[in-house]
Amino acid sequence: MNLYPLPLFANIQLILGNASYVISAVLFGPWYALYTAALAVTGLFITWDSPHVYLIFTIEAVCIGLARRKDIYSLYSSIAFWIIIGMPLFYLYMMTYTSLPSSHLPFIVLKQGINGVFYAAVGSLLVILTPSFWLFQPKTKDKQRRTFNAQLTYAITLVITLALLLAALLFNNQFINRQQELLLQNINESSLHLGKLTQAYIDNHVLALNSAANWLSLYEAEVDQKQLALGQLHNQYPGFITMLIADEKGIIKSASPVSLFNSKSNPPSELNISDRDYFIEAFVNQNYFTSPVFLGRGFGNDPIVAISAPLYRPNNAYHPIGIIEGSLDLKRFKEIDKTNKLFREQFIVVVDQQKRIIFSSPELNVKPLTEFSYSQNNADSSSGLPTLNIHDKTNIAPEYLYASYELNNEWTLYVLNPFRPLVVLVEQMYIATFAILALSLIVTFLITRVISGRLTRPLERIANKFSTSNKNDNSDYSIDEESPKEVYSLYMRLKQSKSQLIGYQLALEEKVALRTLELEQANEQLKSLAEKDSLTGLYNRRYAEQQFPLVQESCQRSDEVIAVALLDLDRFKAINDTYGHLSGDLALKSVARLLEDDFKRDDDIIVRFGGEEFLVIMPLCNALKIESHLESFKQRLAEIVIENPANNVRFSVTTSIGAVIANGTYSCSLEDWIKQADLNLYQAKDTGRNKLVFTTLEDTLT
Ligand code: GH3
Ligand code: MG
Ligand code: MG
Repeated sequence: MNLYPLPLFANIQLILGNASYVISAVLFGPWYALYTAALAVTGLFITWDSPHVYLIFTIEAVCIGLARRKDIYSLYSSIAFWIIIGMPLFYLYMMTYTSLPSSHLPFIVLKQGINGVFYAAVGSLLVILTPSFWLFQPKTKDKQRRTFNAQLTYAITLVITLALLLAALLFNNQFINRQQELLLQNINESSLHLGKLTQAYIDNHVLALNSAANWLSLYEAEVDQKQLALGQLHNQYPGFITMLIADEKGIIKSASPVSLFNSKSNPPSELNISDRDYFIEAFVNQNYFTSPVFLGRGFGNDPIVAISAPLYRPNNAYHPIGIIEGSLDLKRFKEIDKTNKLFREQFIVVVDQQKRIIFSSPELNVKPLTEFSYSQNNADSSSGLPTLNIHDKTNIAPEYLYASYELNNEWTLYVLNPFRPLVVLVEQMYIATFAILALSLIVTFLITRVISGRLTRPLERIANKFSTSNKNDNSDYSIDEESPKEVYSLYMRLKQSKSQLIGYQLALEEKVALRTLELEQANEQLKSLAEKDSLTGLYNRRYAEQQFPLVQESCQRSDEVIAVALLDLDRFKAINDTYGHLSGDLALKSVARLLEDDFKRDDDIIVRFGGEEFLVIMPLCNALKIESHLESFKQRLAEIVIENPANNVRFSVTTSIGAVIANGTYSCSLEDWIKQADLNLYQAKDTGRNKLVFTTLEDTLT
């Protein structure tokens, strides 16, 4: 594509092939973009033969690629590139290495910027629209989640940029083409019209002179008569500056205006014109002659064109006797030029058969009589306009649009139309396009903010509203009128689900509370099961072992004593055997009640130690009274009668008790204490049962 850029206007072209490296930059990052650019730009290099393309476009490719890695949209990075790097760099290059007029530069640079943004937009859109690109994973490093606003803005910006630039390029191009056509038509018409006018002017004078020559050849006239006739003729044709009649030797015999004869230091009668072309052509070759332009001699120094014809004697049309000549006033062209300028901004140049300038509009600033030299069609010829440069012939910027008209006498009339106004027109259109683009981008930003705001703001508020766990937040949040329907229905549904959710939550909380209560109760039961004996309701051995260290520690700190008594019912096996197992159980319960009744201080711990054995721990007890207290318990138990109504039996039980008392410091281990008590219990059993053996662990008491 870059080998064949689309011609827009004169030397301005539209490049589209560069979209390739924009795509490459988006999909594969800066280095692949660089390779692609090097390849794509080679096409441009071949077309334009200018190495700058490598510099500017490869930098652009890398910049867009790097920006893409940072997850910046490629259209934005392209706009930034052209404003910050591309256009300044391009301007510098054009200023240094090309001969374009400086007035033309900003436009060319601006066009390049617009072109850059255009193909970036084309590339971006191709990436978005072509599904097969989805197969590639873009090498974006810092990919971030974008706001809806940013996404919407980019999409709209992209579409607007593309649509606007495309429309502008198309319409501008159309308009410029039409403008060029009109101009060309206009200039061609001008050249035809002016050419014919000029032709008529010359023809008219040639005809007049020839008629005069014929007429003068009809009869032999005196010199005075000839002078008179010449004067009359001159009066009728003021287009001639001077007129003269010369004899066969080239000596001027009559001249008009007559004043020229007298005022000159050299009387015209002494002037010999036999060396002049117009004399030679008319007299020697006997032609009706129109000369090329030359500088007048004798009658002033104006460039003139001489029209001459031979004069004969009557009845002898073979040997001329002299010539008649008229010097055509070239200033007449000035009037033609002026009249033309009333309607059009056009200049004319008339050149003779030797390509020398007969007349030129003064604005062109070229000298008459010099050769008319120019260069043609420096600009790209694809625009098809005939252009030429007169002043700066090597510049590629055309100076004039032209049309030419060939006159009968091999003269040529050129009509020139300055090219610059056309360029200015194009520049203005491009600048207007850019201004509209910039404006619509600003409008896009504003509009998308409003539109996305309508969606995102209520969504954000809804999110905030429903994220608060505060059940009591009943402040009714209402969605404003501008919000889309979808957002509103989302809000209503969320509201509904939230109230449902709150209902569920309340029910759940109630259930949990109930379950917790049940669990607590079960725990309590479990705990008492773990700590208590189910038959007697007394604490079990485990509890005693758990509690003892606490009791012992507190007694040790306050230097108090602890008494421990171990009870074992006497011959209980026999009781079971005699009265039944259930009666044995009843007896165990009775013993327990009695123990509770007798050792009711808060600190006392009564424990069913196992089978028919009980343990009583008595911290802070009165060392003097404890023995008698145990003794009285033993007696009271022996006196109790146990009745079992089920099998109608009555019996009593006795117990043996082994007890010790010691300072709390004795041991922190319950085992040590029980061991001592057990020794005493063994002794009590051994000495006949129903006995109390009580010892004080003296050595430990202080
Ligand atoms: P001693 O005077 O030597 O202690 O004789 P004893 O029969 O009490 O001795 P032994 O330790 O041999 O017997 C204890 C009996 O206690 C055996 C068992 O049947 C009975 N026993 C243990 N736990 C229970 C119980 O929970 N209920 C009933 N009914 N009897 C129990
Ligand atoms: Mg026992
Ligand atoms: Mg026993």
